[in-house]
Amino acid sequence: MPYLSSPFSFATMLLEQNIMYLKGVGPHRAEKLKKHFEIQTIRDLLYNFPYRYVDRTKFYSINELSEGMDYIQLRGHITDFDKPEGEGRKRRIKAYFTDGTGYIHLVWFNGLKYITENYKVGKEIVIFGKPSFFNGQISIIHPEIEVVSSTQAPRQQIVPRYHMSEKAGGVISQRHLTEWVSNALEMLSGRISDPLPASLIQEYDLIPLEQALRLMHFPKNAEDVATARKRMKFEELFFLQLEILRYAESKKSERGFYMPRVGTFFNSFYSNYLPFALTNAQKRVFKEVRNDFISSKQMNRLVQGDVGSGKTLVAFLCCLIVIDNGFQACLMAPTEILAEQHFNTLHTFAQQLGINIQLLTGNIKGKQRKSIEEGIRNGEINLLIGTHALIEPNVIFKNLGLCVIDEQHRFGVKQRAQLWKKNTLPPHVLVMTATPIPRTLAMTLYGDLDVSIIDELPPGRKPIQTFHYYYKDFSRVLEGMRSELKLGRQVYVVYPLIQENERIDLLDLERGFENLTQELPQYKVGKLHGKMKPAEKEAVMQQFAKREIHVLVSTTVIEVGVNVPNASVMVIQHADRFGLAQLHQLRGRVGRGAEKSYCILLTNYELSQHTRRRMQIMVETTDGFVIAEEDLKLRGPGDLEGTAQSGLPFNLKIANITKDADIMQQAREEASKIIHQHPTRTAQEIKAVYDHLNQLKDITTNYSHIS
Ligand code: ADP
Ligand code: MG
Repeated sequence: MPYLSSPFSFATMLLEQNIMYLKGVGPHRAEKLKKHFEIQTIRDLLYNFPYRYVDRTKFYSINELSEGMDYIQLRGHITDFDKPEGEGRKRRIKAYFTDGTGYIHLVWFNGLKYITENYKVGKEIVIFGKPSFFNGQISIIHPEIEVVSSTQAPRQQIVPRYHMSEKAGGVISQRHLTEWVSNALEMLSGRISDPLPASLIQEYDLIPLEQALRLMHFPKNAEDVATARKRMKFEELFFLQLEILRYAESKKSERGFYMPRVGTFFNSFYSNYLPFALTNAQKRVFKEVRNDFISSKQMNRLVQGDVGSGKTLVAFLCCLIVIDNGFQACLMAPTEILAEQHFNTLHTFAQQLGINIQLLTGNIKGKQRKSIEEGIRNGEINLLIGTHALIEPNVIFKNLGLCVIDEQHRFGVKQRAQLWKKNTLPPHVLVMTATPIPRTLAMTLYGDLDVSIIDELPPGRKPIQTFHYYYKDFSRVLEGMRSELKLGRQVYVVYPLIQENERIDLLDLERGFENLTQELPQYKVGKLHGKMKPAEKEAVMQQFAKREIHVLVSTTVIEVGVNVPNASVMVIQHADRFGLAQLHQLRGRVGRGAEKSYCILLTNYELSQHTRRRMQIMVETTDGFVIAEEDLKLRGPGDLEGTAQSGLPFNLKIANITKDADIMQQAREEASKIIHQHPTRTAQEIKAVYDHLNQLKDITTNYSHIS
């Protein structure tokens, strides 16, 4: 790591100083800061941005307080303390506070000693907090208190509010943080150097770091906040993209396994067992992978293709080449059901070819697991299918040549980097995904991957027709189900399952199951949900695949990847409770055979406009990209973002991957320029940039195995 060994600039070192030595902190508080705020250095403190600001010029009086008020400020004194009540963690203390216009309660649940010692009865104080109303009584829980002193400097108008940790109790307050930030800024005044190149600052009209930090914590108005935030977001996203691109770049020169041979496994499969002609898109993507295999570089490729575009088959062909070249391959799926299904599909092929294929999930234990682990280690197993169990430390491959990662959006840069540890040379990596994601997310989550696109569905697919029905018209839905069942097709009925509410949801599913059993006496209705034992789930899936079950009532365990081409109807219960991307995935479970398929969205009649619009989008289009865009517009980034966050090399403190798309785009362009214009990284300004990046990596992660 050449850049780490170079000495950091003096100013950088100042920022890295242990917080303990900052005026007013000391070892005891430093310990608390570390434990409850993850603040260890001055940089951590200064980059711990306020989550909001409050205007503290205004004082209220108790008689004007009303329900629903946000944080308010009062000036008065405590008249009395009640004896502490309760034991242990329930212990609390109550004080009576007045400003002459009324009384309120102040309540604390911890830090009792500190409170009684510091806030004496009768002493003038300013309190700050959110009033709560109960039975006509107003209380403020854990108010922030300032003792009014005559020598005090005039108060600021706009005060930063930091996220507080309950447990930091008594020892660290908002005031402490504010004061320490102020001390740090004063101490470093004029000496905080900017990690961003001056040219960028100029081009994007950003303010320098020192000024930005000052304004982040002590703005004079909203405009200050905006200017400072813009600058800090740019910095954050710039370094994020620089890291992703640097990583991608370093991977390009990473040696990888050379796999030139097209051997008997592949040839035999291709000429004897291929169940259908490949689409042109499948052929093209396979060729792209083949090129990677003979490049002597490690492949890191993303295959994007809408649901049903036939990604599994492409993955299998790639595995065959790998096995032909004497390596092992593995395929990792996000759920057990999907892993099992992949196993079942590929098992048939593998057997015909004499390939040793095994399934490994968290449920496979004991002897069976031992024997699989042994087979992986000694190389007897050629192809391993499984869940995250595949990357557990005790799974050691003899010579893993390819890892296929299917539909795992939580498998970002960070997680993928773990795969290296499985080998001396990193395996080739193929990531497959159907859920189209917005560009900014893609370039963050998958920003280090080359992209292949399967933009063509297998021939003969009839578009799925989608209808939105209300529950009151359920008899018509039943009619439709009956007529499809009569034609020999199968039906999915999917219920939402929300964790917090699991019992009620399962009841709902149970009732639906019974109802359908009665309504469709001549057909076999099965059920499937996450609470069932793996063996039971497996059995039900098998029966459904063999057409022994005609109607499968299930939770979203079947959401991703499940493939039963004879199923032609997807009924989605409480469709309003699903996101668009999820509805799209679910709908993708039908329309996989040559028959015309239907998707029925069931909801109550009463719907918000927003929900009605979502249903309408599903009815109007089957284009995954259109749906992803609409989803983002309607729903905002929401959980997609959580997903992306978990795959990032750094945690973002201020920028938002989807909302700050424009800044992200600029940051990426600039990061890319730096990487390509300064391959040697020796120019002074560029060196400072990389110093900073390494510093960041050093403190935030230890994921990188290279550089
Ligand atoms: P996805 O891309 O969503 O993972 P799958 O790999 O599960 O899609 O394939 C969907 C269905 O299409 C499967 O039944 C598969 O056997 C079938 N299929 C794949 N490739 C072709 C092809 N070239 N022609 C016809 N059917 C195909
Ligand atoms: Mg799939």
